[in-house]
Amino acid sequence: MSHQQMAELLFPDVAQVPEDIFSLYPARELPPEARVTRFAPSPTGALNIGGLYATLISERLAHQSNGVFYLRIEDTDKKREVPGGVENILQSLVYFGVQWDEGPFLSGEDVGSYGPYKQSLRDGIYRVFLKHLIREGLAYPCFCNDEDLNQIRQSQQNSKATPGYYGEWAKHRGITFEQTQEEIALGKPFVIRLRSSGSPNKKVIHYDLVKGRIAFPENDQDIVIMKTNGLPTYHFAHAIDDRLMGTTHVIRADEWLSSLPIHIQLFELLGFPLPKYGHIAPIMKLEGTSKRKFSKRKDLDGTAEYYKTQGYPGFALGEYFMNLINSGFEEWRTVNPQKAYHEYLISTDKMNSSGALLDMNKLNDTSKEVISRLTCEDVYELLYKWSKEFDSELFETLQKDKEYTLKILSIGRNSAKPRKDYAKWSEIKPMIAYFYDGWFEEDASSGYLHLDSIRMDQAQTIIQRYSDLFSLECGREVWFSEIQSLAADLGYAKDMKQYKANPEQYKGHVGDIAMVIRVALTNRNQTPDLYDLMKVMGNQRIVERMRRFMAQNS
Ligand code: GLU
Repeated sequence: MSHQQMAELLFPDVAQVPEDIFSLYPARELPPEARVTRFAPSPTGALNIGGLYATLISERLAHQSNGVFYLRIEDTDKKREVPGGVENILQSLVYFGVQWDEGPFLSGEDVGSYGPYKQSLRDGIYRVFLKHLIREGLAYPCFCNDEDLNQIRQSQQNSKATPGYYGEWAKHRGITFEQTQEEIALGKPFVIRLRSSGSPNKKVIHYDLVKGRIAFPENDQDIVIMKTNGLPTYHFAHAIDDRLMGTTHVIRADEWLSSLPIHIQLFELLGFPLPKYGHIAPIMKLEGTSKRKFSKRKDLDGTAEYYKTQGYPGFALGEYFMNLINSGFEEWRTVNPQKAYHEYLISTDKMNSSGALLDMNKLNDTSKEVISRLTCEDVYELLYKWSKEFDSELFETLQKDKEYTLKILSIGRNSAKPRKDYAKWSEIKPMIAYFYDGWFEEDASSGYLHLDSIRMDQAQTIIQRYSDLFSLECGREVWFSEIQSLAADLGYAKDMKQYKANPEQYKGHVGDIAMVIRVALTNRNQTPDLYDLMKVMGNQRIVERMRRFMAQNS
């Protein structure tokens, strides 16, 4: 009876009981093997790369089993919340191609029947369960202020006892209804604590999806489940929400592993079935030859935003993460080069339990591979979208010269072995800038590349002669034989073999001639195939560039 009175005293406004809430959150109608997973970020800063990794695992586990993946915003810590935090996280997830079925969307809509999906909008629900625990004698109000807590800590230190609020040290464990009434009448703030029945001498055994079997001492701390502002703590909200939203598998960072005994206890006291948990180690960064954790403060590349700004396609990062999640992915990819990575089935028991390494070189290789499989139209669209946000100059050019750009991007793309040249969108402009007259002019105005092997007076002659004879219309063979004849005319070997047999007889070889042409046209000594490049540039531009070269070097 006194528990009942206490519950009414503390939560007079709460009329509902847990059954009322359960009826609003019926069990999901899903096939038995379907998994329900979630990503539950706190909007306290940028989405970090570890969060993205964990999210991808959760999303895959749900969708590969025809289940549901949802987002829940854990925003009960209002002090740590950053403005625009939720939108930022959602934008990053969209960029990286993570699709969620329920939760907040960028449109501002909350989708799904298990919401609201923001914890700050669920406090009415938490209060029903808080009242229930008080009514059952499983929780109690604690009026300790900082001073009281310090005193407890001090006494524990003096008597070398384990610190914390538990057992005989828990000052308000035995608080009566009358005492509570008095404290409330004085307007004293209070928290609600769980009345722990655990003992550190007993063990909880947990089978983690990633870490395997773990034995912990039971939780004996009377942890806070409601803060003085009436909002639940993370632990409590986690239990309520994951139960009501029907989560079957919780994949989260292993920093939460030490809280697991609390969570197991909470689910038990509340009479909820425990979801399966998989705790993943943080992604590691390679520094020199050693691995370390990403630092929130100094590692820009620890945020998802960094990869977006750099222009790694979202699906390239997804593809790379698949390699990190399960090493079997690589073999699958070799056998299935054309399939979307979503078709690969991940499994938690094959996951790296000690911290996967993010290796930039491998990420670049994966990204090059993935981009090489795209059509030039897709590359154009994605580059266009990216530049809109990150490179306005490039954006304008892409808008103005779409057809020309498509041709540039198609070089080396439509073959069985496409060029693997771009790892990220930010790399493309510097690599193709010379195709565009404005950027070429900017570059060449400070002079042409110096060619050691050829004297400039010869370069003049080569370009002069070549500008009169070149033709692109009759195909690659004719085009090349013209360069060869020009080489022979000017005292250069027609091919390498000829040159190597008698180098002293020649000024150089046909490759030197091609190099002079390349420099005149692009001011680069490395470009894609010269014939392809000239076809894209077109006669008029080629003639102008050769003229310019001769004028500058005369
Ligand atoms: N809000 C918690 C976090 O930010 C979620 C942990 C969990 O996934 O249960 O890490």
